[in-house]
Amino acid sequence: MPSETIKLTAKFKLKEAPEGLDELFKTYREIVNFLISYAFENNVTSFYRLKKETYKSLRKEYSSLPSHYLYTGCQMATAIFKSFRKRRWNGKAKGKPVFKKEVIMLDDHLFKLGLDAGVVKLSTPSGRIQLEFYPAKYHERFKSWKAGQAWLIRTPKGVFLNVVFSKEVVVGEPKAFVGVDLNENNVTLSLPNGEFVQIITHEREVRTGYYVKRRKIQKKLRAGKKRKELLEKYGQRERNRLNDLYHKLANKIVELAEKYGGIALEDLTEIRDSIRYSAEMNGRLHRWSFRKLQSIIEYKAKLKGVRVVFVNPAFTSSLCPVCGGELSPNGHRVLKCPKCGFEADRDVVGSWNISLRALEMWGVSVPPESLTMKTGVGKVSRNDVYELYSNHG
Ligand SMILES: [Zn+2]
Repeated sequence: MPSETIKLTAKFKLKEAPEGLDELFKTYREIVNFLISYAFENNVTSFYRLKKETYKSLRKEYSSLPSHYLYTGCQMATAIFKSFRKRRWNGKAKGKPVFKKEVIMLDDHLFKLGLDAGVVKLSTPSGRIQLEFYPAKYHERFKSWKAGQAWLIRTPKGVFLNVVFSKEVVVGEPKAFVGVDLNENNVTLSLPNGEFVQIITHEREVRTGYYVKRRKIQKKLRAGKKRKELLEKYGQRERNRLNDLYHKLANKIVELAEKYGGIALEDLTEIRDSIRYSAEMNGRLHRWSFRKLQSIIEYKAKLKGVRVVFVNPAFTSSLCPVCGGELSPNGHRVLKCPKCGFEADRDVVGSWNISLRALEMWGVSVPPESLTMKTGVGKVSRNDVYELYSNHG
C-alpha cells in the first residue's frame, strides 16, 4: 500500500525567554546576514557550496556556537537570496537583501521537544537549556508524530517555537468518490450511494458580521493606535472563528467519505483566465479560504486513509451530469437540461459532476444505472441538510 507523508506545523509559546536568548538571536542574524552577503557577492544559490566555502571561517569566529546553527543559517541564507533574486528578476526588489527578523531556524540536532513534560531543550553556546512552554490541547495529537525542522521566533507577543511535525500514513485505493462542491455559505456532497447532503456553514454571515464591526470601528475612531489594535483584535477573532468552522466542516466531510475511501475536490490552482475565474468564483469562497479549507480537508482525509483527488473545475456547474448537455436556469438556483430533461439544484449539479470527473480520472467507468438511480424521481434535490452549528448566533 502506498504511504504518504503529512506535515503540520504546531506553535509553542514559551513561558519565559531565557537569558542569553537575545544574544543568540543577535548572533544568528549576524551570521545569516554574512551568509546572504557572501551568496550575493559570489552569486551562490547552492546550500552545499555556501556551506563549503564559509564553514571554516565561521566555525573559527563563532567557536562556542553549536555547528548546526551554521547549517540552518546557510539554509536560510540560500532561501532568502533565491527569493530575492526572483523578486529582482520581476523588478520587485533592488539593492542587496538584508535579514532583519528575529527568527532562528532549528534542525533536530538543535532542539528536543518533550511534549509530555511541556518543555523544549535547546542547544546554545552555553550548553543545553530547558525552556517551558504553555501546553495547548491540540499539541497532544503530535505525540505519535515526528518533529522535524523548527523556527524560534520572537514577536511582540512573546517567543514562539514553530515545529513542523510529520507522519507517514497509508492511503488505500478508493472504492468511490464523494464529490464536494464548496460554496461561500454551504457545502454540497454527492455521495456514491446516490444521496446528496448539504452542510450549511453560514460563513457569509460570519464574514458580513465582522465586516460591519470593522466599518463601525473605522467610523467611530480616528486613525491611530487604538483603532489599529481594535481592528487587529476583531481580525484575529474572525480568523479564529473561520478556522474553527473549517475544521468542523472538514471533520464532517471526512466522516461522510470515510467508508468510500475517496474525496473529490475542484483543482483551482491552474485557473489563470481571470475573467472566467471571477465568473466561476461568483458566490463561492474567496480564493484564500478555498485553498485553506481544501488543505484542511486534505490532511484530515489522509489521516483517515482517505484519498483526495483534484478534478478540472471547468463547467462543473453548467453541464448536465447525465448527458453532458448545457444546462439552462429554471428558477432560483435550479438548472434544467433541455436535451434529457434532467433537473436539479445548482449545488447538486456541481457536486455530482465533481464526483463523476473523479471516477473518470481514476479510470472507473460510470455504470448507467447509477445515473438513473439519481434521476429516476423527477427533480433531483438534496436528501439531507446539516447545520454545522446548531446555534450560530
Ligand atoms: Zn442532460
